[in-house]
Amino acid sequence: MDLYSLSLKDIAQKIKSKQVTIKEVLDSVYSRIDEKEEVLGAYVTLTKEAAYKKGEELQKKLDAGEAIGALGGVPIAIKDNICTDGVKTTCASRMLEDFVPIYNATVVDRLEKQGAIILGKTNMDEFAMGSSTETSYIKKTKNAWNTEHVPGGSSGGSAVAVSADMAYAALGSDTGGSIRQPASYCSVVGLKPTYGLVSRYGLIAYASSLDQIGTFAKNVEDTALMLNVIAGHDKKDTTSACIKEKDYTKALLNDIKNKRIGVPDAFVKDGINEEVKQAYDNGIKTLEDLGAKIVHIDLDYAKYSLATYYIIATAEASSNLGRYDGIRYGHRSEDFEDLIDLYKNSRTEGFGEEVKRRIMLGTYVLSSGYYDAYYKRAQCVRTLIIEDFKKAFEKCDAIVIPTAPHTAFKFGEKSTNPLEMYLEDIYTVPVNIAGLPGISIPAGFDSKGMPIGIQFISNYFTEENLLQIAYTFEQNTEFNNIKPNI
Ligand code: GLN
Repeated sequence: MDLYSLSLKDIAQKIKSKQVTIKEVLDSVYSRIDEKEEVLGAYVTLTKEAAYKKGEELQKKLDAGEAIGALGGVPIAIKDNICTDGVKTTCASRMLEDFVPIYNATVVDRLEKQGAIILGKTNMDEFAMGSSTETSYIKKTKNAWNTEHVPGGSSGGSAVAVSADMAYAALGSDTGGSIRQPASYCSVVGLKPTYGLVSRYGLIAYASSLDQIGTFAKNVEDTALMLNVIAGHDKKDTTSACIKEKDYTKALLNDIKNKRIGVPDAFVKDGINEEVKQAYDNGIKTLEDLGAKIVHIDLDYAKYSLATYYIIATAEASSNLGRYDGIRYGHRSEDFEDLIDLYKNSRTEGFGEEVKRRIMLGTYVLSSGYYDAYYKRAQCVRTLIIEDFKKAFEKCDAIVIPTAPHTAFKFGEKSTNPLEMYLEDIYTVPVNIAGLPGISIPAGFDSKGMPIGIQFISNYFTEENLLQIAYTFEQNTEFNNIKPNI
């Protein structure tokens, strides 16, 4: 078996027990990348030189009998909206094409402190706006299961890197599904933690009340190992929660007997592909066979979550992206006569179509004539959605819903109709609106062989519960063992 195809846990153990050297691991992963990157386009930047240098340092430490951390020597990929000191962080936008941060995001510091080695930065939808990675200014990322299909988005590069064994795990960001949806399209495990559990310091903001950094991994155990490292209080992020650091691997029990799993039947009735629905129903049956109690729940306001999300997210985006004016930040146009001209032309040239659409939408819903009708109302509905979940969690320990209504679509199929693209987020956005944790894990394939994911949602800061359920599902199904033939 090639080293690159091992799990994060196994490779970490092999390094520590000196069965392999860190250089051998890096050689294996980078040769895999050399072989597949041209077809798949997962990465926008590779940091090979720095990775080998770090590898050498860690190997020296290890050989001297020193500790190298929980992820010592393990190569990891980072989404390109997470700041990396001295390494370009572009948000896949022309606006930040040459932006080199002078600091690390807290998550990157945490990973490095535990010995992880950064392989490179992964492609994404521009400023994380999209569900297919097609809005990237830089390149096209293809789904390893069928390269005519999109990988999902916005963290498409991270999902492909992990699914094609071009990284042992990756970081992504999830504002409305950008970890869970590509994870489901690519058949990997994607975790969006509770809002506040993982620091957002150094994550380039899209919609700050919804954004959350999380993980892509090859299985649930590796997900827990990654969460162990990235979760924890950060005084640099004022929304960071004071939660005690835990060992999430302790939650990995193969047992969900008597867990009450909520099924929101009415929410999962319309607009879903039949084969995806079938896989979802089979998933529920599996949970039942494993001893879980299925309870039927109502999420009455969930049907408004898409409208609510696209008002709140665009409103916040219009404000967050105001800083890119060509003076303080970002691309500066060479074509201008006065200051207003400079602002206008820099933004016109620097932002892509989807980003502009959202800035305009967000500015509109915040404008004085429409604020009450849209933004304020969306905030009220947000509270109702939160209350829906609160009520649901009185009746159940976790909720199961599909991750996305369809499997990965073909390039161009939805990019000309933004509304159709937005509809792909129907099952993922409620979780961000409420700030809850959610995980997507492999749950089947459609007749064309494209992956299907299933999503579990749990109450605030109950990631252990979430991981236990996901782990049990994974241990008792075969989907996770099937790999793309690339
Ligand atoms: N697809 C959603 C959007 O375009 C979610 C994106 C995300 O989670 N970053 O807003």
